[in-house]
Amino acid sequence: MPIQTLKVGSLGTHNLLGLAKDKGSRLLIASTSEVYGDPLIHPQVEEYWGNVNPIGPRGVYDEAKRFQEAMTMAYHTYHGLETRIVRIFNTYGPRMRVNDGRALPAFFSQAIRNEDITVFGDGSQTRSFCYVSDLVDGIYKLLLSDYHLPVNLGNPDEISILDTAQEVIDLIPNISSKVVFKELPKDDPKKRQPDITKAKEILAWEPKVSRSEGFKITGEYFKKVLS
Ligand code: UDP
Repeated sequence: MPIQTLKVGSLGTHNLLGLAKDKGSRLLIASTSEVYGDPLIHPQVEEYWGNVNPIGPRGVYDEAKRFQEAMTMAYHTYHGLETRIVRIFNTYGPRMRVNDGRALPAFFSQAIRNEDITVFGDGSQTRSFCYVSDLVDGIYKLLLSDYHLPVNLGNPDEISILDTAQEVIDLIPNISSKVVFKELPKDDPKKRQPDITKAKEILAWEPKVSRSEGFKITGEYFKKVLS
C-alpha cells in the first residue's frame, strides 16, 4: 500500500501535529529503524543519518517516516510543541497478525503448520528482536521524559535470519519443517542492531525479556491462534 503508507506518514502526521498544537498536547511519534535504511554504520546510533533509497520499494515507508521526523522537529522548534520521537526497532510478541508477511509471524505459523520455513536470501542478514512489553515500557518512559530528540528503542541482541528460523523450528515439537531459500527482497537491510546508550542514560531503560523467553510466549500464542 505504497501511497497510503506515504500519506499516513506525511499528511497523517501533519494533521496530528496541527491537532496537538491546537490542544496544547504532547505528541509522541512512532518512528522506525527504517530511517537508517540499509545502514552503513553498526550498531545504529541516533546521530547516524541513514542510507535510504528514496525510489526503492521500501522508500515509501522510509521517506514518509523521515519526513514525519522532520515535520515533528519543525513543529517543536517553530511552534514550541512538546514532541517525542521513538525509533522502534523490530518488535514481536502475542497478537501479531499471522499473515502480515514479517519474518516471525511467517516462521511461527509455517512451523506450527509443519510447512517449510521461507528464508529470504541466504539468511545472513541480521535483525535484533525486542519483546513487546519491553518496548511499551520504553515508549511510556520516553513519553513522560523531557527529551525531544529521537531515541532508539529495541533489543540489541542481534541474530541472523537463518538462525532465527532455526530457533523457531527448535521450539515447535515433532515437526519436519525445513528451511527453503527464496529471493531476497530489494533493498532488504543487511544488518540491524540498535545502539541503546541514549535510552539507558535518559530513560534508565533496557530490555528485560530474553529472546528465548519471548519466543516461547509468542510460539504459545501462535499455536493457540492457529489451532
Ligand atoms: N524474511 C524472511 N522470510 C519471511 C519474511 C521475512 O526471510 O517469510 C526476512 C526479511 O527479508 C528480512 C527479515 O526477515 O531480512 C526481517 O523481515 P521483517 O519483514 O520481519 O522485518 P524488517 O525487514 O522490516 O526488519
